[in-house]
Amino acid sequence: MQERVKIVLKSGKEQSLRRFHPWVFSGAIKKTYGEPVEGDLVDVYDNKNEFLAVGHYQPSSIAVRVLSFKQETPDIDFFREKIKQAINYRRAVGIIDNPQIDVFRLIHGEGDGLPGLIVDFYNGVAVMQMHSIGFYRIRQEIASILAELLDNRITAVYDKSEGTIPHMSSIKATNEFLVGNSGPVIVTENGYKFKIDWTTGQKTGFFIDQRENRKLLEKYTEGKTVLNMFGYTGGFSVYAMKNANLVHTVDSSFPAIELANENVKLNYGEDKRHEAFQLDAFDYMNHIKDQYDLIILDPPAFAKHNDVLANALQGYKRLNIKAIEQIRPGGIIFTFSCSQVVTRENFRKSVFAAAANTGRNVRILHQMSQPSDHPVNIYHPESEYLKGLVIYVE
Ligand code: SAH
Repeated sequence: MQERVKIVLKSGKEQSLRRFHPWVFSGAIKKTYGEPVEGDLVDVYDNKNEFLAVGHYQPSSIAVRVLSFKQETPDIDFFREKIKQAINYRRAVGIIDNPQIDVFRLIHGEGDGLPGLIVDFYNGVAVMQMHSIGFYRIRQEIASILAELLDNRITAVYDKSEGTIPHMSSIKATNEFLVGNSGPVIVTENGYKFKIDWTTGQKTGFFIDQRENRKLLEKYTEGKTVLNMFGYTGGFSVYAMKNANLVHTVDSSFPAIELANENVKLNYGEDKRHEAFQLDAFDYMNHIKDQYDLIILDPPAFAKHNDVLANALQGYKRLNIKAIEQIRPGGIIFTFSCSQVVTRENFRKSVFAAAANTGRNVRILHQMSQPSDHPVNIYHPESEYLKGLVIYVE
């Protein structure tokens, strides 16, 4: 076997790895012995030549994504074992073999000890997104392991890494089936139906992470007039439709509007209580004074990097000001942030600043997070990316 490249960290920079944080930043590296290429397995040592970890190398800000803190070789058997653990975990927490759910995240990167790998499961079809060349190189092997371990549950594995492998990479990914083949499928989430088309949809096709928050919403919709802002596939709209008087879905993208309409129809047939509009959220919210009892704000990530954090927080504040200002007295707002760099505390401060700006009385009813198939690795706080508040506005 070829000797692995050795990376030695600057003194003091080993601390986070000793606490099992799975990233090595390029600035922490003192010396590299050898010339690793993107995707190679590399060994990481501290300044006193003690072994720390082995992981995938990437010439970028996150230089190494750690796969193991033991001196071992992450080979195919290693990955099979990790994927097996991810499946066992989801079985233990009631996600797999649940008749109400056949759409879930099967592998959640760092949350499952596999940084760089995302796999979503859609009623028999696994959709993979690789965020590192290390995983991209072994995509076929990973697909075969998924097919083997999920056995009779799986009809196809699709790789959708074109948009997710690192920008600077010399490798160009193509989206393709690696196992089997399948057109769009209908999935079941808490008993509701959704059509999933991973080839045209955003991310892997669906925002699976909102499953429990949609269920929570259902409780508050009886007889209500609901605005689902940033509605995409109409996930929240479909749940709201169960009991609401009227549901409006707003999204700036036309394909999203079509999908939302299609999914409402799939569950309720032609139903005049629902309408979807292709509009800009910020514009629309200027003109809705006292029109809605319940507003959902689930915008795209406003900040992808720390250097734009301040702008993002302003964005959340502006958006929430509008909703808090315009909602009917006694109204409820489900407000979210899915930006990884925005902490729970920062997000809450933005909503607080928004409320203070309006002067209305605001109570927090619930604090929301991501479901158990998007596990948070306790050593990697960044895996907790979805946070939300349910607020009551007097
Ligand atoms: N709530 C959705 C996910 C929302 S994803 C769900 O549960 O599945 C964010 C959505 O916001 C995308 O569909 C995107 O098209 C839309 N969007 C982005 N900017 C927007 C804007 N300025 N106004 C309205 N919609 C916008």
